[in-house]
Amino acid sequence: MWTELRGAPTGSRRTCKSWQTEAALRMLLNNLDPAVAEDPEHLIVYGGRGKAARSRGALEQILQHLRELEADQTLLIQSGKAVGVLRSHPDAPRILIANSNLVPHWATQEHFDELERSGLIMYGQMTAGSWIYIGTQGILQGTYETFAECARQHFGGELAGRLCVTAGCGGMGGAQPLAITMNGGTCLIADVQPSRLERRRALGYLDEIEEDLPSAIERARQLAANAQARSVGVPVNAVDLLEYLVEHEIQIDVLTDQTPAHDVMAYVPVGDTYRDPDSARTTDPDRYRSDSLESMARHVRAMVALMDRGAVAFDYGNNLRQRAAEGGFSRAFAFPGFVPAFIRPQFCQGRGPFRWVALSGDPEDIYTTDRVIAELFPNDASLLRWLALARERVSFQGLPARICWLGLGERAQAGLAFNELVRSGRVSAPIVIGRDHLDCGSVASPNRETESMADGSDAISDWPLLNAMVNVASGATWVSIHHGGGVGIGYSQHAGQVIVADGTPEADRRLERVLTNDPALGVLRHADAGYEAARDCARRNGLALPSRA
Ligand code: NAD
Repeated sequence: MWTELRGAPTGSRRTCKSWQTEAALRMLLNNLDPAVAEDPEHLIVYGGRGKAARSRGALEQILQHLRELEADQTLLIQSGKAVGVLRSHPDAPRILIANSNLVPHWATQEHFDELERSGLIMYGQMTAGSWIYIGTQGILQGTYETFAECARQHFGGELAGRLCVTAGCGGMGGAQPLAITMNGGTCLIADVQPSRLERRRALGYLDEIEEDLPSAIERARQLAANAQARSVGVPVNAVDLLEYLVEHEIQIDVLTDQTPAHDVMAYVPVGDTYRDPDSARTTDPDRYRSDSLESMARHVRAMVALMDRGAVAFDYGNNLRQRAAEGGFSRAFAFPGFVPAFIRPQFCQGRGPFRWVALSGDPEDIYTTDRVIAELFPNDASLLRWLALARERVSFQGLPARICWLGLGERAQAGLAFNELVRSGRVSAPIVIGRDHLDCGSVASPNRETESMADGSDAISDWPLLNAMVNVASGATWVSIHHGGGVGIGYSQHAGQVIVADGTPEADRRLERVLTNDPALGVLRHADAGYEAARDCARRNGLALPSRA
């Protein structure tokens, strides 16, 4: 009998032998909660085919191991399947995960697909296969910060009255309309699947849906003209929307995209043949692949045309430019990726997507942690604004969770404060702390997080591997090494860590080590690449910097 995928167990009583393993079990089931996952029936959490477990059988086995795992054992997961349990020690990770990794020469989408069809490998995306997805909120603050920085750089700090156009309203991309309106802008977003737009509207991420393309454009233009912070979804292909804007010479202000371009078989090519993409994928996969690349070339050609007419365009981490180049468009890289454009200065401070989840299932526990974060960092105006907006506008999906970008030093402070909350009983069950793999020291992704590094070290993946080892050495509760997340097979290598605050003194020591060393590696990575801001941050935080060779 399969476990029913109805979400994670909640409350302060556990069924596993420790809170460390209970946390993993709850987070795995939370990833597959129908309120959280995009396609739980196929174990798909988000990001095209990013999965939490390889198969239903593999899922059941993992759950069983987690229930039985002792406090000095470590469970090994290979691409979403349990492959062994080893004796380790209480401070070691309870689970070690390796997903989607291939030897570089064989790391092609075609070879991956072949292995996946044989049941040997699974695509783990970033937080899907590492069991720390928290729904669309997980990307929301990063998206909010990205559009805020775009506003600061190009529009005097405000998006009010600006028309921001994008596409892809899925698990991650669905954060865009809310992030834009939180920054005061107007959003027009296309998605080929009406159900995805409906889902975001139901969750409060999207305000309205207009079925007809010209009416949607007209509505969005009116809203922008009246400086109304609202979002409009339209159920069309991104290419249809963008080519319409080009053809009718409609002026827009900001332009990006979060269709699943990292995976040619997940992106839906433009044209009538693809009204039913599922059947097109199975009937003629080769044609699907080539039409997908051709469509992405058209997609980026239209983006560049709109950029040439004044829109601020940026790639939003889905590898769309790479695919357009493969599809034959020579100016595919005419606009920058969002990391060099907006995010790298934060990485130099060890700032990244710190997130936490209340294992109790009680939203009050998250509101308690919100207050603690506000007390810890009373001078961080943008953080305080975010916490207030999040409380007001973000509805929880699955277990209640929160995210905010914190830097080196701040993350350890927050972790220790949360452990104190558990110890003192101010929250009713332990708290899980983790992060996206999209962080300062945990990813090598030359078209995204490490695009245009100052020293040209974009493709060196020693850093994420070191990051994983640092997190194991420091005592994270589970640690993962993945390949291909965000941008697709062959294009990235990355690592994740999750740590449980269970209120014990041992957890204090682990939290302090992990939440210091994990972002410290990001600061060291940027210092090594020559970023002065990272060298300053390292000095301020007492990190030993080797003298320049
Ligand atoms: P998803 O699979 O949950 O959703 C993708 C959506 O795009 C779907 O709703 C689909 O219907 C729609 N779509 C597909 N082709 C389309 C087209 N041609 N026109 C319009 N709509 C189309 O994926 P997701 O989790 O939202 O991720 C989207 C992309 O963003 C992925 O490539 C992912 O790797 C990337 N990503 C970026 C970041 C970041 O920080 N920038 C973070 C995570 C993921």
